[in-house]
Amino acid sequence: MKNISVFGSTGSIGTQTLDIVRAFPGSFQVVALSAGRNIELLLRQMEEFHPKVVCVQQSQDIAALEARFPAVEYLSGPEGLVQMAKLQVDVCVMAIVGFAALAPTLEAARSAKSLALANKESIVVAGSLLLPEVAASGCKLLPVDSEHNGLFQLLEGVKRDQVQTIVLTASGGPLLRRPELALEAVTPEIAIRHPNWSMGPKISVDSATLMNKGLELVEASFLFDYPGSRIEVWIHPQSIVHAAVWLVDGTCLTQLGKPDMRAAIGHTLAYPERLPKVIPKLGLDQMAKLEFMPPDETRFPCLRLARQALEKGPGSLIALNAANEVAVCAFLEKRISFPKIPQIVEEVLGQNWPAKVENLGQTVELDVAARRAASSFFG
Ligand code: NAD
Ligand code: MG
Repeated sequence: MKNISVFGSTGSIGTQTLDIVRAFPGSFQVVALSAGRNIELLLRQMEEFHPKVVCVQQSQDIAALEARFPAVEYLSGPEGLVQMAKLQVDVCVMAIVGFAALAPTLEAARSAKSLALANKESIVVAGSLLLPEVAASGCKLLPVDSEHNGLFQLLEGVKRDQVQTIVLTASGGPLLRRPELALEAVTPEIAIRHPNWSMGPKISVDSATLMNKGLELVEASFLFDYPGSRIEVWIHPQSIVHAAVWLVDGTCLTQLGKPDMRAAIGHTLAYPERLPKVIPKLGLDQMAKLEFMPPDETRFPCLRLARQALEKGPGSLIALNAANEVAVCAFLEKRISFPKIPQIVEEVLGQNWPAKVENLGQTVELDVAARRAASSFFG
């Protein structure tokens, strides 16, 4: 029985994590849950999984929870998340979206035996702080992001000097097959209708702009220690091949599976063991047509912008992420058009950002400055 904590339990990754806990009774004990504002779903999760500790985004939500479950320890806000991350669990699942996950992620890297990291923004903005933290504590960092989870599995089986390049695949998002659609006309409804995956709104928009793959390129660079020049991106609309590794002899290893995040989540929860039948096997018919093509970086400049930020260093990566979070939020609120997202990111990235960032405090300061810069491009 493994003790687990789930940050962002009411989101797409959080609920799928609890699906696995439910499907394997006796394997996992949920000791702590954190959620944002979906208190109704959180109450149902508390009823089913009996956590000892619960953290909510806003302290005024505690009263309703306490009335039903008085014995639970309640925490709230950003400090509450850091408190919850101090729990010495077997697996901490980090599935909060955005920069808000950074402080608890750094804390969990010190306290948890393993960190199942779905949140990619924290690696993008602070990979150079997180990786040394993980190395110092001995915490096992297990990527939940499907491409990185695939790469993790592939790279476990090869020697480093046998690797030529590593490959992330990208579905291409909902706009791939729609060249007739002017990007100005893309609404939030169109952008979040992802062809293969059902995900939270922010990552869905990131998939439509290809910023998701840009963030993932940075994530892969930190996780596996390869420069951007040795990381390829293939557009692969079926999302069956998640990752590949080109070896020095000219052959290629690939990781395949149905596009279902529970495969990666289950892998990280059970690691180094394997859970039986987490997802169904692929049928041959589903593997009959696999397409691959290069990304269109002219129509979707975000991948190029992320590569640039990676080359420039940590300050630029913080700026890239902050500008993107602000722009995506404004797009979802219908305050800016779809093509404004890369434009704002490019403008902010063009400003002066330090090549070195020493600590969490400086990271937060730069994040605030970049958010302010991004907000100045709309009213
Ligand atoms: P989501 O929007 O569905 O869920 C986010 C969760 O975090 C919710 O429980 C929400 O209440 C909570 N939350 C948001 N802001 C918070 C804050 N400030 N304080 C406390 N809690 C907060 O998002 P998601 O799609 O599950 O994605 C979560 C993370 O996993 C993201 O970083 C995303 O990039 C990554 N990821 C998701 C998928 C996927 O299939 N959904 C795949 C790969 C990686
Ligand atoms: Mg991914």
